[in-house]
Amino acid sequence: MQRLVFFDLDNTLVDRHGTLADWATDFTTRHRLGEEVRQELLDLLRERAYPSSFDEIRTRYRLTSTAEDLWRSYCTDIAAMVSCPADVLTGLDELRRHGWRIGIATNGATDIQTAKLRATGIHSRVDGICVSEEVAARKPEQEHFAQAAARCGTTLSTGGWMIGDNPVNDIGGGRAAGLSTIWIANGSPWPVDLPEPDHRVQHACAAIQLLLSDSVTRSTT
Ligand SMILES: [Mg+2]
Repeated sequence: MQRLVFFDLDNTLVDRHGTLADWATDFTTRHRLGEEVRQELLDLLRERAYPSSFDEIRTRYRLTSTAEDLWRSYCTDIAAMVSCPADVLTGLDELRRHGWRIGIATNGATDIQTAKLRATGIHSRVDGICVSEEVAARKPEQEHFAQAAARCGTTLSTGGWMIGDNPVNDIGGGRAAGLSTIWIANGSPWPVDLPEPDHRVQHACAAIQLLLSDSVTRSTT
């Protein structure tokens, strides 16, 4: 197996839920909306956020800004608030020092995902970035993983790893694409009705350590 690894972005390398909660507090304060609206925004944007989400938000809360302006502010604000833990960034550097090729395989809108990757410093630590909107293929589609490999200058033919928090998109999709898988649990139990990942860990850092120990083992054999 080649030393190729794809990481999901949201709730794998960065804490999207925490960042979104901070944003919702800020947004509702700025627009003089209450706690109830804050919770509604979290529900609305929890799974995904696209420019069209802000059409709905604008209409529902009678906001005067255009949906486009609201989306642009959202991208800027989220990029300013999001962070990647220092030990994860160091881990990515370490993986590359050990000969791993690293790709980002993420579902989402290109502008927000790119803004987050740049703001956190992840973009300069990886070999390729694959955002579903840009490649017109969402995880768990195999095409998404094939495009991610292409962006890393390789193919899926000799395998690799997929690391992410979503049992269906990351683990099921990765497995179907012929990849070994590590699930980031974030404190959740594995859904019993789905085939198990190869490994389960709580945080991205532990997944990186697992790959490094594997790489260390193989470099000495
Ligand atoms: Mg995720």
